[in-house]
Amino acid sequence: MARKQPQPEVCSFCGREMPEMFSGMDGSLICNECIEAGHTMLLTATKPTSEPLSLTMSELPTPQQIKDFLDQYVIGQENAKRFLSVAVYNHYKRVLQEKSNDDVEIEKSNILLVGSTGTGKTLLARTIAKMLKVPFAIVDATTLTEAGYVGEDVESLLVRLLQDAEYDVQKAQRGIVFIDEIDKIARKSENPSITRDVSGEGVQQGLLKLLEGSIVNVPPQGGRKHPDQEYIHVDTKNILFICGGAFDGIERKIAQRMNTQVVGFDAQQKAARVDKNDLLQYIAPQDLKSFGLIPEIIGRLPVLTYLQPLDRTALRNILTEPKNALTKQYRKLMAMDGITLSFTDEALDYIVDKALEYKLGARGLRGLMETVMTDMMFEMPGKKKLGITQSFVVTRAYAQEKIDKADLYRLQQAV
Ligand code: ADP
Repeated sequence: MARKQPQPEVCSFCGREMPEMFSGMDGSLICNECIEAGHTMLLTATKPTSEPLSLTMSELPTPQQIKDFLDQYVIGQENAKRFLSVAVYNHYKRVLQEKSNDDVEIEKSNILLVGSTGTGKTLLARTIAKMLKVPFAIVDATTLTEAGYVGEDVESLLVRLLQDAEYDVQKAQRGIVFIDEIDKIARKSENPSITRDVSGEGVQQGLLKLLEGSIVNVPPQGGRKHPDQEYIHVDTKNILFICGGAFDGIERKIAQRMNTQVVGFDAQQKAARVDKNDLLQYIAPQDLKSFGLIPEIIGRLPVLTYLQPLDRTALRNILTEPKNALTKQYRKLMAMDGITLSFTDEALDYIVDKALEYKLGARGLRGLMETVMTDMMFEMPGKKKLGITQSFVVTRAYAQEKIDKADLYRLQQAV
């Protein structure tokens, strides 16, 4: 009689020998990868498919209404707001268009925002998504690498969008993706590289299909694609991509282009009107090419606009004007303790001066305000309970005392 050989343990679902297995009451086995695949299938299969788009043409806000909404949250940046409002309006008109027989196909209007860090690029994109109540994801282009290399595949940026849409694929397919630091994947020289450029040109090539609109296989948990994995199929045709980047040094390319274009009397007159302190306003697609974006990517980002550096007035307004301005947030926090909080104009001017002095920008305002407010927020609720005091005024002297004690260089590193 033949002796029964001990059988290797294999997953009852995929039939493979796997290092991690879970057994059932009847001795059947399931591996970790089959559990993950089943989980994904459940997530996508049990989602009720939402309406193609809950928004209708008559409900779609007009460009002016979109801009008015942006004005409530974002200070300045008039030019970017106008471009963005029109582009977003056209994008959703395109999504909502009825099938027509006239062969006129509205093309996708992905957007590129160029401006220094902390000028409001992410804030603009986030605010648009908030207004339209569509899923929104922010991805840092520097984390992406060409497929097959260490880093994240380009497709993984859709995972964030799916997560924000709670895995409702229909909903995700009309969301907004903000790709930050797109300038960091510029190729190193203007000429196509001979050696591989896996985190620059390679990623740009990978992004092309996504920006244009195609059906993409997305690994549900993110990370690397795996041959045995179940994928979620996402159509990017109606996803709006907004890209942002500081493009440090692009002013030089703009200046070079404008100098070489200056020929003849008319051109000389034009050159005299050029504002050399704000060259970004003249940005054109060929400058992006000189910077290292490939022409195909530039072509898929047809709406190009710029953000201005924030000056003293803008920083000062950021403290008080937006709907969720920092001073309003602190006032609300203290009001919850029954404490009336106020700031003198001199205190706010002083905080802005420090932000400018230490080049902290809008992003640093939050850190500065925390520096000023922490002791007060620590002590006041107790004092209120004891009935000692009911209100607090942040004066310039108070702000100065707190900021003098703080290490602003540490804040500088954080922004
Ligand atoms: P970017 O994407 O351009 O680097 P962000 O949009 O992330 O900058 O801005 C960082 C923070 O600074 C925002 O969360 C916001 O609090 C503030 N901020 C920047 N620009 C503006 C602006 N124009 N209006 C209001 N707040 C701003």
